[in-house]
Amino acid sequence: MTDITTPKDADARRAIAPVICYPTDTLPQPDMALYKAARRDVELVDQQTVPARDGASIVVPAGHFLRIVSVEGPQVGDLNLFAKDDLTERFYSGKTRALHGTHITTGDRMWSSFPHLRPMATVTHDTLAWYGMDAFGGSVHDVIGTRCDPYTGNLLDQTQYHHCCHSNLTRAVADAAGIAMAQAETHVHDVLNVFMCTGFTRDTGQYFMKTSPVRPDDYIELFAEIDLLAVLSACPGGDCSAQHSSDAAACYPLLMEVYKPADLTGWVPPQRNGYDGTHGR
Ligand SMILES: [Zn+2]
Repeated sequence: MTDITTPKDADARRAIAPVICYPTDTLPQPDMALYKAARRDVELVDQQTVPARDGASIVVPAGHFLRIVSVEGPQVGDLNLFAKDDLTERFYSGKTRALHGTHITTGDRMWSSFPHLRPMATVTHDTLAWYGMDAFGGSVHDVIGTRCDPYTGNLLDQTQYHHCCHSNLTRAVADAAGIAMAQAETHVHDVLNVFMCTGFTRDTGQYFMKTSPVRPDDYIELFAEIDLLAVLSACPGGDCSAQHSSDAAACYPLLMEVYKPADLTGWVPPQRNGYDGTHGR
């Protein structure tokens, strides 16, 4: 630090108020009244249990609701979303974060990768919405983490652990798409951390986790705006109160349920992004 000179106006520079990178006043807003009406009369049409420390997938047709439910005990889930017939259109965690903030809840959307950039899903119900943001800056359902993975574990602790969310998702994508593990791994992407309570420390800016407030019967509900392949891992961190990337934590299954609404009058599926894709040439 000795070769760095603090400018005389350092405090004044730090005092400049921030501006929001992506103001959302021009973002097309979801019709929450429509979803609210649709979810009043729904029929359970499919379900899939995600075993503890493992992954599983389910197809969610456009116009259906996906509920991710806590069943036996506090458990965090790592969710990947794909367009059902095109694995290259997938959930874009970074852009979702830029638009909606570090954590998502009812009314926020999960956006897809370029060149599509359209809402894949809309959060229509969240029983943990009461949590808000705690005194540590922690909140639930983040789009700031990546997913626990065996490479970082090996980097930090020289481990060979095979049930991190990254590996659980890789096996589940391979099984769902009927492709080889190496190919499936290239499709696994940064997740929505369902039920996980996370934030950044105020002093060092480090990613932190703390005990998830989730209780059995809590759920987050997503409305599928396009045909989706949803792939979920029940994280080896369990409630993520202490450790992940090992068999140390108590882990529980998660449940995925697909509900079909009786009436979707007025719903219009999203179009692909309108940019012409020529990039100036
Ligand atoms: Zn994990």
